[in-house]
Amino acid sequence: MTSSRPDPEFLDSPFFPEGMTVPDPDDPINAGYFAAAAQGRLVVQRCAEADCDVRQYPPELSCHACYSFEMEWEESVGTGTVYSWVEVVHPAHPALREFGPYMVALVELDDMPEIKLMGAVVDAPLGGTMKIGARVRVVFERTADDVAQPRWRMA
Ligand SMILES: [Zn+2]
Repeated sequence: MTSSRPDPEFLDSPFFPEGMTVPDPDDPINAGYFAAAAQGRLVVQRCAEADCDVRQYPPELSCHACYSFEMEWEESVGTGTVYSWVEVVHPAHPALREFGPYMVALVELDDMPEIKLMGAVVDAPLGGTMKIGARVRVVFERTADDVAQPRWRMA
């Protein structure tokens, strides 16, 4: 599939309320992921061994196929389809006690179909009306001065 990479898109205002856990952007395994996200780019880890070339998500210290430590980042166009979903009605996190319901989807990427990412869909239809196969695109939420996290938006 050939698709042009859209301009990075950031939410104008936060989706989740204050008080959510924010990831450490300097964590050595995830640093490349969060550096790209801060620029509005969605990247997935790929093994740099020429005879392996496996993609994996979430990022890990080494390749899950050949155990190489030579990992690199590959950018996705950031579009995909809803592979599965759940509507969160009773969130467990204390910051979300008065929040919701909201939608969490498992998204199959168009350009990396072996990769599925879980995330909130900020403008999803609620009340059990989300459809498997619905089109979504990545959007980024700034969750700290130096951190942005991918969310999804209906496409
Ligand atoms: Zn490998």
